[in-house]
Formats: sequence, structure tokens, C-alpha cells
Amino acid sequence: MSLPLFTNRVAVLATMHQKQQVMAPILEELGLKVIVPANFNTDIFGTFTREVKRPGTQIEAARIKAQKVLEITGETIAVASEGSFAPHPSLPYISSNREIVIFIDKENDLEIIGEEFSIDTNHSYQIINSVDEAYEFASKVGFPEHGLIVMFDEPKNSSEVFKGITTLDQLTEAVNFVLSHSTTGKAHIETDMRAMYNPTRMKNIEKATRNLISKINSCCQRCSAPGFEITQRIQGLPCELCYAPTLLIKSVIYQCKKCEYKEEKLYPDGAEFADPGQCMYCNP
Ligand SMILES: [Zn+2]
Ligand SMILES: [Zn+2]
Repeated sequence: MSLPLFTNRVAVLATMHQKQQVMAPILEELGLKVIVPANFNTDIFGTFTREVKRPGTQIEAARIKAQKVLEITGETIAVASEGSFAPHPSLPYISSNREIVIFIDKENDLEIIGEEFSIDTNHSYQIINSVDEAYEFASKVGFPEHGLIVMFDEPKNSSEVFKGITTLDQLTEAVNFVLSHSTTGKAHIETDMRAMYNPTRMKNIEKATRNLISKINSCCQRCSAPGFEITQRIQGLPCELCYAPTLLIKSVIYQCKKCEYKEEKLYPDGAEFADPGQCMYCNP
């Protein structure tokens, strides 16, 4: 859906990692003209390889990037994305990837955030002692479609990092170099999580952008501002057998950020009752 608010306006995409491949076509559905500034170095805002520490939270980091491109270009709409990787909150042995995409419209004073949380990620690292161990790691993480990073496992040589490795020759050379120059005889190998080296992450960025568009297309009934979104989830869906409230979501509250208008929607998951298996009386 093309919103008149955005038709033919320029949106600056704050990326240097080819994220426009997946983000631009989706944003253009809103009627926006997407541009990517040349020479915009997002690495000064933090990198995954810990060379530069990221400022603040994930959302703050994305916001800073978006504000920076608005400053540089003098435009009024910016979009930036930021990813993070961590063990899954309830399944610590599984990696998870949270992607957020922030949309800022200075002219209309809007800030809308799309999000994707996924366990579909190859995010991983290992300490290796040989080239064979590097190959083994590579075969498990989707190399060479997914790039790799090789570096020293000691602070002394921490500035020497081989990034964006996508061929067996590059991998062999980097691992041999590190192994032969390291005092420990070990090397650190990890997945390159930059979007253009990681098609799995690129997909999650695409999903986060889709989520952003659906939030933008959800408009307030009172003032018609985009970004009418869920701000609260209320538990208490009644058990089908005994009607006692369960921990499942009974309703959600949508709220407009502009005019504060609120709306409650019952049974967001489509069911009016919870399975007795979720009930602490029927299934203690
Ligand atoms: Zn409103
Ligand atoms: Zn029950």
C-alpha cells in the first residue's frame, strides 16, 4: 500500500553492506524513492568483530545511524538496520538473531521500528589448531555462500583480522598465516555476519523490513498517523475446561504514538479459550 504521506519522497538507507538488495524493493512499495549514500561508513558505529564497540542498545545504534545519514544528506526520511546475535533467551545452546529496522521521518515526527527474531542463523565461532579444523568449521556454517573471518586468538595481534573470506584459497592462506605467526599455535575462526556475506542474515533483515512495512501501513483510526502498533500484551486467556485464566495472551493493546489513542483487540491468536494443557489447574 502506498501512503500519500510518503509518495515520491526520498528515503536514505544507511547501509554499506548491500542491505538495499532486500530492503529497497520493500520500502519502494510505500511509494518511497530509496537512495544509498556513497561512502557511508557504518563500521564507525560498531562492528560484529569487536574492533569498534557499539554505542548503547541495538535500537539506539540504529537510530544514531539513521540520524547521521539525515545530517549528511539533508533529507527527511532515513532507514537503518541493526542486528544482534546472542544465545536464545530460553535455549542457551541455540544461537539467535534479532534484526531491527528503524524508520525515521523528521517531517512528520515519526519513528517506527520493525523487528525479526529468529533462530535461523549460522552465527558461530571456534578456536582451531589446524587448517583441517578450519575446513570442518567452514562446512558446518554454510561456507562459501556464507563468508568467514579468521583472526588471532591473543590480544597482541588483535588488529590483524581477515574478513570476508569466501574461497578455499583465502581460507587456507589466512589460517596458515595466523597459525604460523601466533605464539599459541591457535587461530580464532568465526562466521562473517555482515549482511552481504551472510544470506541467512539477509533473509532476517528482509523479514524485519516486512514487519516495519506492516507497522507503517497500520494507521491510527483517530489521527491516521502510521505506526499504530501493539504496545502491550495482556495474559489471561481462559482455560477451555475450567475457565481459569492461563498465561496465554487474551488481548493486545494498540496505541498511537502521535495522539495516544488506544484500542484493545481480544484474542489476537484467533482462539477464545486456551488448551487445558496450558492450564495450571487442569494440567498441574
Ligand atoms: Zn493517532
Ligand atoms: Zn483449566
